[in-house]
Amino acid sequence: MISYGRQNISGEDIEAVRQVLASDWLTQGPDIADFERKVAAYCGVKYAVATSNATAALHIACLAAGLKEGDMLWTSPNTFVASANCGRYCGAAVDFVDIDDDTYNISVAELEKKLNSNQVKPKVVIPVHFAGQSCEMEKIHALAQQYGFMIIEDASHAIGAVYQEDRVGSCKYSSMTVFSFHPVKIITTAEGGMILTNNKGLYDKILLYRSHGITRDPEAMVGGSDGPWYYEQIGLGFNYRMTDLQAALGVSQLERLVAFVERRRYLAKRYDALLKDLPLKLPYQSEKTNSSWHIYVVRLDFASLQITKQALFAKMRERGIALNLHYIPVHTQPYYQKLGFKKGDFPVSEAYYEEAFTLPLYYDLTDRQQEEVVESLREVLRND
Ligand SMILES: *Cc1c(COP(=O)(O)O)cnc(C)c1O
Repeated sequence: MISYGRQNISGEDIEAVRQVLASDWLTQGPDIADFERKVAAYCGVKYAVATSNATAALHIACLAAGLKEGDMLWTSPNTFVASANCGRYCGAAVDFVDIDDDTYNISVAELEKKLNSNQVKPKVVIPVHFAGQSCEMEKIHALAQQYGFMIIEDASHAIGAVYQEDRVGSCKYSSMTVFSFHPVKIITTAEGGMILTNNKGLYDKILLYRSHGITRDPEAMVGGSDGPWYYEQIGLGFNYRMTDLQAALGVSQLERLVAFVERRRYLAKRYDALLKDLPLKLPYQSEKTNSSWHIYVVRLDFASLQITKQALFAKMRERGIALNLHYIPVHTQPYYQKLGFKKGDFPVSEAYYEEAFTLPLYYDLTDRQQEEVVESLREVLRND
């Protein structure tokens, strides 16, 4: 079965993890700091904090931003539920801004319109770099200056991507950026995430939230230190730490990041060429961005064809190809419907959902397998 995404694990990766297993530190050892330093250096950002996963990272990024009950978080409906749930964890209300019909990222025009017309302004906006293509960060940043909200980039898809002159993660136009290292993402630590920032105050808060609200820094203590064993809990935090096993895997994977992204870009270009005579809308790429190509999404106007999306998925599966769909608009999920959202609230995302599906794309997908995917798709669309 050709799946939509999968990890690449090398002999070096396994050796890196084995070395940690044989060492003194399985967690809270030196590999975390090493991984953080290397990702920060790669992205050109001052601080990085590794976490147990990106969902945890989004949660404590929101807390560090000061998000709380009575506040408002806005994000895109075309994302994984975690981009919105993080606001709910903090007791804040969540609202959405519809997507751009070409990039499938948050629409800057819609954002501006909503900021102008809504009484309730957001404290935090989370742009999601869908499929690995950066949002219009410079424009969103200008709106943040004007309306006084904080930006947390959900770059779960986008390590290795570039926006204008900078790597995603530089935080040039945001307060914080979050990466995910889940196995389907660009690099993996099994479970894992990271928060990047240039702001020392946010960095200090994130460190506390990651580990129980506990500090070992005498300077930060309320009462001063009692001795070398002493620590102080100065706030309420969590255990959202990454292990050293995972961090060592991350460091090893990071060495292949450029190769991973190059291969994804090559396969994406090749899909563009192989699919161009099919009745599909292929991914649009803005000239300001260079995507990391987490996923390759196409649109098909099922309404005008004889085939349903369910039948397409079934027939592709019979041919050994697992398609996927990113994403079910978050506001249509039962949990968000109970909060008052309705179908029809974000029509561009909903129309997108009717037409979109995700083709297999990952580092180890061979040219031949990619041709199989395209041939199967051609057959299925022709037979109906
Ligand atoms: C994968 C993903 C997340 C959550 O990442 P985890 O590391 O699995 O918690 C959040 N947002 C987006 C857009 C994602 O794709």
